Amino acid sequence: MNDFTCSLLSCATDDDRSWGMDDYGAGVAKWCPGCGDHAVLTAVERLLELEQLPPERTMFVSGIGCSSRFPHYLRTYGFHGLHGRALPVATGIRLRRPDLHIFVVMGDGDCCSIGTAHWIHTTRYNPRMVAIMLDNGVYGLTKNQTSPTSPRGRASNTQPRGAFMPPINPLSVTLGVTNASFVAQTGDWLPGHLVATLQAAFHHHGFAFVRILQRCPQYTDDLYKEVMRSPDAVELLEHPDGVTVSDLPAAYRNRRTHDPRDLHQARRLAEPDGKIRLGVFYRNEDLPVYEEVRAVPLPTTAEKVALLNKELDRYAV
Ligand code: SF4
Repeated sequence: MNDFTCSLLSCATDDDRSWGMDDYGAGVAKWCPGCGDHAVLTAVERLLELEQLPPERTMFVSGIGCSSRFPHYLRTYGFHGLHGRALPVATGIRLRRPDLHIFVVMGDGDCCSIGTAHWIHTTRYNPRMVAIMLDNGVYGLTKNQTSPTSPRGRASNTQPRGAFMPPINPLSVTLGVTNASFVAQTGDWLPGHLVATLQAAFHHHGFAFVRILQRCPQYTDDLYKEVMRSPDAVELLEHPDGVTVSDLPAAYRNRRTHDPRDLHQARRLAEPDGKIRLGVFYRNEDLPVYEEVRAVPLPTTAEKVALLNKELDRYAV
């Protein structure tokens, strides 16, 4: 048994204690200096502290990629799975463990490429979990390959003359799926907005998809630099049912009241028009949730014995 497991078991009996951010951290994150993943990890630890989530009832599931190292750096339960397969693993966990707080961490290459079918259908199935998609527009772990969200023309090791095709828009895709219930976007360089968005996602009853614009200084340093330098390029979507952050830098003047129940408007706002929009695009808690639709009560021991006896009686001679 390693230290990680021991510490989880020792806290499992300590229901009354309160949790600080330090209680959730595990080990030293090995991302590059300046990588946005560090900021997202800190925001996630802050969320866990704000919500006082017991580590032994919190689960992080990831696929493959730089961001998918997340579970290693958190003192919760974790599953570092296969490329693109985090969502079905998390759905399986949700079906068996309705008591757990489940988070999924994926990269753009992970979610929008090999994991696309799972992304689409998990959105449609709408299981209760928070899916965080860190979008740095590149395959970073495998050292600079064009990803589905790489901007057209951006050179990489796989497409040295520049990406051939326009990028996929993760917001529009998710908003286009039947039964999508929560879609939001935030940036790793705005900690207050990041935490508030994750908190709104956590409180959503259903599948909460959060795209985080994530800096990768190693390979796509230029991707969000302009947006970070020019807060005027950002429009904040605000609403009492979405995210409203009062302590953002004053330079973020562009604010729009957007009712996240308005799917038509959400789809319009998600389309590229020169502005980067941050906030909750869509939220609807009246949609079917997979584990509730499929809920089958577990048989009692007496019922199991009766079923077993009935089956064995078929072979009686
Ligand atoms: Fe972060 Fe990019 Fe380094 Fe990966 S390659 S750890 S995404 S900076």
